[in-house]
Amino acid sequence: MRTILLLTAALAASAQSIDWNKVNAEALHHLQAVVQIDSSNGNETRVVDYVKKVLDAEGIPSMIVSRDPTRANLIARIKGNGSKKPLLIMGHSDTVKVDAAKWGKFGPFSAALDGGYVYGRGVIDDKSDLFAALMTTVLLKRTGIKLDRDVIFVTESGEEGASNFGIGYLVAEHWNDINAEVCLAEAGGVTRRGGKTVYATIETTEKVPRGTRLVATGISGHGSRPLRTNSIVHLTRAVEKISMWDPPMRLNDTTRTYFEKLASISPPADAQYFRDLLDPAKSPAAREYLAVNEPTYYSMLHTSISPNIIQGGFQSNVIPSEAIATLDVRALPDEDMPAFYDLMRKVINDPTVQVVPTARGGGERPIPPPSSITSDAYRSVEAAFREVYGVPVLPLMQTGATDMAQVRAKGAQCYGVGPMVDEEDGPKGFSIHSDQERLLEEAVYKHLQLFWKAVTSIAASK
Ligand SMILES: [Zn+2]
Repeated sequence: MRTILLLTAALAASAQSIDWNKVNAEALHHLQAVVQIDSSNGNETRVVDYVKKVLDAEGIPSMIVSRDPTRANLIARIKGNGSKKPLLIMGHSDTVKVDAAKWGKFGPFSAALDGGYVYGRGVIDDKSDLFAALMTTVLLKRTGIKLDRDVIFVTESGEEGASNFGIGYLVAEHWNDINAEVCLAEAGGVTRRGGKTVYATIETTEKVPRGTRLVATGISGHGSRPLRTNSIVHLTRAVEKISMWDPPMRLNDTTRTYFEKLASISPPADAQYFRDLLDPAKSPAAREYLAVNEPTYYSMLHTSISPNIIQGGFQSNVIPSEAIATLDVRALPDEDMPAFYDLMRKVINDPTVQVVPTARGGGERPIPPPSSITSDAYRSVEAAFREVYGVPVLPLMQTGATDMAQVRAKGAQCYGVGPMVDEEDGPKGFSIHSDQERLLEEAVYKHLQLFWKAVTSIAASK
């Protein structure tokens, strides 16, 4: 209890010296500036140059390191007394591509502020974490707050499919410069529904992309004489079987806690589905409901399979001897892939269709164990979310993949955070990776508060 009081007092003292109105204006300015830099096709070095200028002006040394000079990464460090191992804070500088014609009134690199939103590619993913980590680094330097551990700020390139330039390169060539016990990065966040904040999530683990193909072979021939052995016929039958299959459900600490907590804060009808998952008699029906109505939740239950590319044939009167389906397989972190592929073969039950593991390109991600949901760092991030937003906090297994995979694989406990977003923005097409992306202006300031509270709670001397 005494420690808690002292801690609160220390944080209050350091926060008093911060003029938050001024800092919020700076934070918004930096967010807009980095969104206005087009890094949708690489060119992250231009973002890094901006970030370096901001750090230089504060007297914070930084280093720029790269595998490709146009796709640079930046590393900066605020020193602590070394009694604890460092905290790494990250925000990636690249974004997914844009279809500029779909952006309506505000262009993808406008960073326009309108009606309480900032518009632009990357304004959430992931330039929100980038500006928040940058401002937190600046504030640590300005306040001179005493730290038990170094805080390392990294903005990395290539997160969206080219991590060999970014985190893959940093972990392989510069691990000593970013070696940390704890890290904060993207992929959690706060959900608002009908203008009311409902819950926050902290990402503690993620599914693992596993490149996979189905290759069907048959006898070729003249299209006027249909063959039951046609490779397209066998492939499409296999694709349908594997896509309608309900793979074995397996929860881990994160997903079990997630669904329990989700049940406790959901409307009764929804809550019942989450509770039914744990009842062997009711679970199949609940899973079928989620498969149709809540694909994200359904994907969290098991290793998932989505057929996303199909190829076969080259002329309408030729029966093709080969047809290929490219699957997006997302494995649970502890999946035994050879055993899972064997299960797939049993479901397909067709000797003419092979299940073939493939590389995905752009940098494979390792498969680390989930980060702890009972560590001091987790508790600190959880407390920071509660304090800033006043909502329940759920641990999250992300169905996508992030750069935390590489950092977790080096033994760090990584926690994914993120800003507040309106649930309604998803169906409206304003979410991450959509044709348009926007962030609540209020979320900019709250996200900086969250970052500041989490970082000082994990790293400041008590
Ligand atoms: Zn991202």
